[in-house]
Amino acid sequence: MKLRITVLVIFVIAICKQNPLYSGDYTMPKGNVLVICVDSLRADHLGCYGYKRDTSPCIDTVANDGVLFTNAISQAPWTKPSVASLFTSMYMSVHNVLYGFRDTKNYAISCRMSNDIVTLAEILKIHGYATAAFGQKLHLRKEFGFKQGFDLLKMGLGRSSRINNNVISWLQKRRPDKFFLYIHYDDAHFPYTPQDNFKMYDVYKSNANVTGANFKSIRSGEIKLSGEDINHIVASYDGEIKCVDEKIGLLLKQLDGIGYGNNTLVVILADHGDEFMEHGGVAHGHTLFDELIRVPLIMKGPSIPKKLQISGLAQSIDVTPTILDILDLQPDKEMEGRSLMPLILRGEDVHDAVYSERKNYNGEFLRAIRTKKWKLIRDFDTKQDLLFDLEKDPGEITNVRDRFPKVTADLGSRLSGWLDREHARVSETRFEDAVRIDEATKERLKSLGYAN
Ligand SMILES: [Zn+2]
Repeated sequence: MKLRITVLVIFVIAICKQNPLYSGDYTMPKGNVLVICVDSLRADHLGCYGYKRDTSPCIDTVANDGVLFTNAISQAPWTKPSVASLFTSMYMSVHNVLYGFRDTKNYAISCRMSNDIVTLAEILKIHGYATAAFGQKLHLRKEFGFKQGFDLLKMGLGRSSRINNNVISWLQKRRPDKFFLYIHYDDAHFPYTPQDNFKMYDVYKSNANVTGANFKSIRSGEIKLSGEDINHIVASYDGEIKCVDEKIGLLLKQLDGIGYGNNTLVVILADHGDEFMEHGGVAHGHTLFDELIRVPLIMKGPSIPKKLQISGLAQSIDVTPTILDILDLQPDKEMEGRSLMPLILRGEDVHDAVYSERKNYNGEFLRAIRTKKWKLIRDFDTKQDLLFDLEKDPGEITNVRDRFPKVTADLGSRLSGWLDREHARVSETRFEDAVRIDEATKERLKSLGYAN
């Protein structure tokens, strides 16, 4: 990687003075970058995406001051592979960050993001950015490769208010000329235990909960949830969203207060969503239905238009190339996403299809191809296909595979073609990387429900 970085520096210095894509009254900012990832945040539970509850007044204001993507798709339905895709602009089958932990004969291992991969933080660091990441996630710790490019990576910080304190204190101490900050809030992740002042939606007589210890039993039907239980769980989740929304508002206000407000590109997104029995399950990680992979994506900044809703397809792997494009920097040659700026500035679609993946417990994959109208989910274990007409059936209730055999065959062949190309990239460039983990880490992962 270090050799690649050296080559990249020379390459970038040679070309970054040019502005190859855009001209006219569009001005390129050279400012700061703040990426806020809210774990488990479903797009359809935010006011700006049309939700019935006022869960997100602060995020709605950001959306109103910038662009909001209505069809943004995450590459994976759980944190580790999804954030790896965000940082590396690679699909899961290429970066190979696949599982929480596995037992070997003598000890447990967890997959690791390979040092060979170039990340957004590494590119920005080369270009003089102060880089830091703050959050709570166990999956994103240094030993799993997620510190690459960050001057500082602090996980295990707990709730959003403590994360904010760490962010502001870092900025005040460091006073960087330009920074890249990645913040990963975990408040909306199960078990959804909002503080008292965020229990405003919970009028239900239920104490049911979703935890790492019970979500598999809920999915299997061993634990049965009533309608009242589900309403209570959703109300608690919405309260957590309201809490994290307030903290995002406070953070942005504090950034303004210390002089970083006007020249900071703000990106708000999620690593995946969460299920509340729409397809018979809860939590996340287990399917590729929209409640898990359709995520919010909102951008605001000096060069981003205001009050714009974009329905063109976007993916998590596009975020890194888009940020680099805005900063007039080149992505690494292995990055697979596309800059969304043509879509933002000129309404030009950058994808006619996007892809998501989920590795099954038995080692096989679920993979999905999605166009604006259709989604095909293929189970590579059972060889079963599910086809949904997203325009007529956005809840993905009715499998129309048999009614539309030609669409199924066409999307299936595109999915296979895409997969062949992805596999060819891996064989040339990457192997699966893993690291030994201690018993405490393994037990913690287990308690959160992660095994595969
Ligand atoms: Zn997550």
